Amino acid sequence: MNAPKPDVLVSEVGPRDGLQSVKATMPTADKLRWIDALVAAGLREIEVGSFVPAKLLPQMADVAEVVAHARRHAGLTVMALVPNLRGAQAAVAAGAHKITLPVSVSEAHSLANVRRSPAQMVDELREVVALRAAQAPAMAVEVGLSTAFGCTLQGVVEEDAVIRLAVACAGAGVDEVGLSDTTGMANPAQVRRLFTRLRAELGERAGAAHMHNTRGLGLANCLAAYDVGVRTFDASLGGLGGCPYAPGASGNVVTEDLVFMFEAMGVRTGVDIEALIAARAPLQAGLPGEPVYGMTPEAGLPKGWPLGQTA
Ligand code: ZN
Repeated sequence: MNAPKPDVLVSEVGPRDGLQSVKATMPTADKLRWIDALVAAGLREIEVGSFVPAKLLPQMADVAEVVAHARRHAGLTVMALVPNLRGAQAAVAAGAHKITLPVSVSEAHSLANVRRSPAQMVDELREVVALRAAQAPAMAVEVGLSTAFGCTLQGVVEEDAVIRLAVACAGAGVDEVGLSDTTGMANPAQVRRLFTRLRAELGERAGAAHMHNTRGLGLANCLAAYDVGVRTFDASLGGLGGCPYAPGASGNVVTEDLVFMFEAMGVRTGVDIEALIAARAPLQAGLPGEPVYGMTPEAGLPKGWPLGQTA
């Protein structure tokens, strides 16, 4: 019997977003075991690393090897973050199925992070799209608009600026443009407004919600995005990558809690939550002493799970 098609796509970003924000470097063998456990839990898209110079991010020095290993899982979309054309070339060489490029809406954040303005990043996108046009099968190219909901350097980020940049990225030929709450400043009303506008402008090319839990609003923001039609959600197992500005708060939305919320609502994720919780073991083995977050793994599943939903 075939399982019913999931209603939402949970895109696991822990091996990239999580690992690059912790100090320790997870040994390659542990990364591979962790990714295998995530796949076994039913995750169908995993951001496995980023193609950045190893001297900047030694945590990602083994990314090509990790991509090669992850590709052995049939049906898994192996995704990697690339900051620029050079990273995209390396991702193509390694065989990534999909790349995501962070493009910052905040000029200040963009210059501090990649030493390029948002407009210069759009030019870079055109070159990345030209590069992938030469690939068969074509690699998917996604953009995540960082600081879309606010910036720690600049403060308020204008909603019109977010939409203008999203349209420019789509115009450069990328497949999907998502919105990222890089700094954990989003609220549900804002999420509803911005994703509604994004979807009106870009239609099917409106991409993922990448929410952080810095101020405890991660799940509320995901639900707000779901309510206005978003169906792809980034999350990180154990909320790995705690935010340095908010001790005790996780960085990314916790995958376990996100899956629990959707499944409890009767929204199918395709993820087995018990197997997902079990995937914390290889994560913790590879990063001894690193804090992991999440309420569902602490509380356990309620009696009678899976609940008899009627959705
Ligand atoms: Zn993140």
